[in-house]
Amino acid sequence: MKTRAAVATAPETDLEIREVDVDEPRPDELRVKIVASGVCHTDAIIRDQWYPVPLPVVLGHEGAGVVEAVGSTVQGFSVGDKVVIGPAFCGHCEQCISGHPMYCVNFYDRNFGVQRQDGSKAFSDDQGEIGSHFFGQSSFAEYTNVVAHGAVKVSDDAPLDILGPLGCGLMTGAGAVLNVLKPRPGSSIAVFGTGAVGMAGMLAAKAAGVTTVIMVDIVAERLTFAQELGATHTVNSKDTDPVEAIKEITGGGVNYALDTTGVPAVFSQMTNSLATRGNGVLVGAAKLGTEAPIDIGTLLLGGIQVNLVIEGDAVPKEFIPRLINLHAEGKFPFDKLIKTYSFEDINQAFADSADGSTLKPVIKF
Ligand code: NAD
Ligand code: ZN
Repeated sequence: MKTRAAVATAPETDLEIREVDVDEPRPDELRVKIVASGVCHTDAIIRDQWYPVPLPVVLGHEGAGVVEAVGSTVQGFSVGDKVVIGPAFCGHCEQCISGHPMYCVNFYDRNFGVQRQDGSKAFSDDQGEIGSHFFGQSSFAEYTNVVAHGAVKVSDDAPLDILGPLGCGLMTGAGAVLNVLKPRPGSSIAVFGTGAVGMAGMLAAKAAGVTTVIMVDIVAERLTFAQELGATHTVNSKDTDPVEAIKEITGGGVNYALDTTGVPAVFSQMTNSLATRGNGVLVGAAKLGTEAPIDIGTLLLGGIQVNLVIEGDAVPKEFIPRLINLHAEGKFPFDKLIKTYSFEDINQAFADSADGSTLKPVIKF
């Protein structure tokens, strides 16, 4: 069938909205009519070729939509089901079977390979084949074929126009906190970077009962917004040393910290701002080969823990419904992070995300 899709063709170049062919879903796939898709920083870095993903490709990996067709071997889905689409994984490696599918040993291939396991691609036009199955979904298309095991069924009354970002960015920030840091009520956290991922981490920390929430960024407007959403303290690290500020606020260091920037100097700040036996997580992406300095001499004495975490180490089928429940209870108000755009304005959404004026763009189809 024909569909419209946004095609990435070259680094730092606008996506092209084209009419393309989408093939028939395979036995293990769902065809999904995308209702809305978040735009994540990871879409931009792949468009810009930080990872060597072949172009042209249909990006988009925070899709939410309605099942239009169900492959012959797929169980548990019916036409008309509402779904939020998470990353793909193999389902049978050691990580998958031990409850950590976001560390699937085949994760890179399944999510960044932009083709099926048999080498076929779902999209094509008169210029040739176009990469598909980005994160198992390539959701910047009106219709797309999705790896069924990555899809998460949600209730019939679920608000699909806001749920897509739960499939990646928001799951990453919230999962880093709730699944990895597991903060104690009454404890303290510092979050570096107040983008969608950092804000999701902040909201999750508050939901878990963290009482000192310090947000660090270099953009004043974002810090003001973090305060509106419940940060107890903000630090503009453009003009204040965040390590000193955090130590002063907490009387020696934070129990937990989250670095969503992927900037080497910020990773050092994060490790240096932890209290004794503090626990820090890096989720911010950096180019392959990026190194960050960490003072192993001094920090050893404090017994700190540092984790590098993919997709919040979540099991999406369990975690996404949990986040939806927290949202329904008013404890995870992630809708406040979202601004919606029409499909035609997708490049504006990328630009607004890059310059920081929009925290979490969502494209409505
Ligand atoms: P974003 O660009 O909206 O947010 C990053 C924030 O960091 C911005 O507010 C920016 O001002 C701030 N920042 C930049 N440099 C800084 C510095 N030196 N000091 C303090 N703050 C600084 O991005 P986002 O959507 O929130 O995503 C954050 C990161 O998470 C991206 O790198 C993205 O690729 C990554 N990510 C990782 C995973 C994962 O599985 N690990 C999943 C999704 C996204
Ligand atoms: Zn696996």
